[in-house]
Amino acid sequence: MNIGVLGLQGDVSEHIAITEGALDNLNVEGKVCVVKTRREIKNLNALIIPGGESTTIGKLIWKYKIDDGIRDIAKNGIPIMGTCAGLVLMAREGDEKVMKTGQPLLELMNMKVDRNVFGRQRESFETDLAIPVLGNKPYHAVFIRAPVIGKIWGETRILAEYEGRIVVAQENNLLALSFHPELSNDLRMHEYFIRMIE
Ligand code: GLN
Repeated sequence: MNIGVLGLQGDVSEHIAITEGALDNLNVEGKVCVVKTRREIKNLNALIIPGGESTTIGKLIWKYKIDDGIRDIAKNGIPIMGTCAGLVLMAREGDEKVMKTGQPLLELMNMKVDRNVFGRQRESFETDLAIPVLGNKPYHAVFIRAPVIGKIWGETRILAEYEGRIVVAQENNLLALSFHPELSNDLRMHEYFIRMIE
């Protein structure tokens, strides 16, 4: 299988390393590569949109005209995982912070995103999170200027909350996380994503 990490800006190499680790641990054959073009995206079995700066990643997605390519694979059932800034881009609706910057969203998932809810960079934090689909052991999650999911509808379901706010959600082949799973020494989130690939 061919897993791509969108390589425009953000935590690209970290996602590649941990996805390779998760494939090995699951004993699944697969290749993980950086993708930037429509053609590369078209051939994927799964795509990761990393954390970083969503306004920057968004600008580059539209500059390189790959927005439609990402929407197409999402519609075709290819699993996509958006983490932090990636979650922001996957949302169908944004809060007033998103409106203010006028940043375009890919509008893949039935959720509204609230950006930068925990404050500035220095308000970043780590916490042990209960994510029932990963089993009983808590998952150590790293939140960096994180967004949360303010509202979900349709087929989107909640996989985890932190202090009453939705921080992990899934809509069929689409998975969105507020935190940075590539910065945890825990392969379970990436393993869960790999299992979503048929
Ligand atoms: N606050 C950032 C944004 O909205 C996301 C931060 C991150 O990905 N660590 O783009």
